[in-house]
Amino acid sequence: MAYPQILHHGAAHGVTGSCHQLLMDKQHSLLIDCGLFQGAETSPDGLSNANQLQVDFDTSNIRALIATHVHVDHIGRLPQLLAAGFKGPILCSEPSAKLLPLVLEDAFRLGISRDAKLLERYLKLIETRTIALPYKTWFRIVDNPQLHARIRLQRAGHILGSAYVECDLHYRQSGEKKRIVFSGDLGSPHTPLLPAPKSPWQADTLILESTYGDRTHESRATRRKRLQGVLEKALADNGTVLIPAFSIGRTQELLYELEDITHRMKFKADSAPAGADTSATSAAPWPTLPIILDSPLASRFTEVYQQLQPFWDKEALKRVGQGRNPLKFTNLITVDSHSDHLSTVRHLAQSARPAIVIAASGMCSGGRIVDYLKAMLGDPRHNVLFVGYQAKGTPGQIIQQYGPRGGYVDLDGERIDMRAGIETLGGYSAHADQRGLVNFVTRMRHWPSEIRLVHGEDGAKAQLARALHERYRQHERSLSVHTGL
Ligand SMILES: [Zn+2]
Repeated sequence: MAYPQILHHGAAHGVTGSCHQLLMDKQHSLLIDCGLFQGAETSPDGLSNANQLQVDFDTSNIRALIATHVHVDHIGRLPQLLAAGFKGPILCSEPSAKLLPLVLEDAFRLGISRDAKLLERYLKLIETRTIALPYKTWFRIVDNPQLHARIRLQRAGHILGSAYVECDLHYRQSGEKKRIVFSGDLGSPHTPLLPAPKSPWQADTLILESTYGDRTHESRATRRKRLQGVLEKALADNGTVLIPAFSIGRTQELLYELEDITHRMKFKADSAPAGADTSATSAAPWPTLPIILDSPLASRFTEVYQQLQPFWDKEALKRVGQGRNPLKFTNLITVDSHSDHLSTVRHLAQSARPAIVIAASGMCSGGRIVDYLKAMLGDPRHNVLFVGYQAKGTPGQIIQQYGPRGGYVDLDGERIDMRAGIETLGGYSAHADQRGLVNFVTRMRHWPSEIRLVHGEDGAKAQLARALHERYRQHERSLSVHTGL
């Protein structure tokens, strides 16, 4: 067998379950991510899926796991990887190393055991195995007479701590050198809080995500205006706007944008002449509008995000410098205990007070958002606002697709009729769009001759492949793109 080889154990035909193995030689391989499948998606052989979490491949030669970022669809099968006998270190960026225990603790409680002692032992094990790597710094993986292998993490702009991975392989006997880059999830250039990702210098082979390979996102300012518009329309009838969101990344971005809207509206109200009617410009009383974060996990992430300010972008730090607190503002209410959660659901379902609720999970497949949906989907005063990707087969995708026509959805085995307003803000994404993905490739000094598209549905991959081929043709360069991995 010729090396290196790349195997895709997940996110080959969909957007979840990310797991790629770089076989460097017979004895040494690297695993890049080990994520959960969600919705109807499965591993290529169909053996692993949302309910069957086992790691169904040989782990004996895996020298290290590299976690590109801490979303569960990239790291959620770590317990199963350990159970399958993986003994190596977990390599990730410094912010990821801080966020990782929170994600794993949650996944452990939900999927494995609620036993506090077991959990503590597990977290201790993870801590001892984790190596936090500074960005832009090479880390040696293998150094023997045959092979020298090293990796380096670079900022990917997707969520705090996210990284793409450069792998450098040098086969000493043949003298052959290879640079392989795994993109992980790439952010848009204007993701709140995070600096835009910069392209690598070079790659021979690139494993590239393609979630939004067929889309063009609108600009950040347009998005914020649309967010505000959709929210004001939704709040005009004094209902609640439910925003299903991932605890990590999306929630903090939304808070950041909501703080900004609140700040601007407060400024507007303050600077309006006395007696002026500001209601025409602001249907929602922004400065006092309750923005409820009902997710203990999201709240804890938000706290860690605050501690990681050195990794924020310039704009966010400027706001801090102005005395603003982008992730902790006066009308932000966090709900912690389960009984507070239930009473908030009851209160909002019955009262006619406008409010915005952010709760996980992002695809409505579990978590506290489900209680809100069960209580509120049947009432036209309320609205659901989708801001994230909904994988096929998830309740979120069913609500998004059938809700606007007044269909029904099964939640917790209950059939819920949908009369609430359903809105989608498509451009709101922590993933790069087609232009961002193509730029990631073509802003390299040395373009890759091989690109393997992962983490996208077939249509998105096909369109991205077309766009890449077109660009390579214009520059008279050759490219092979693999989409059916
Ligand atoms: Zn992600």
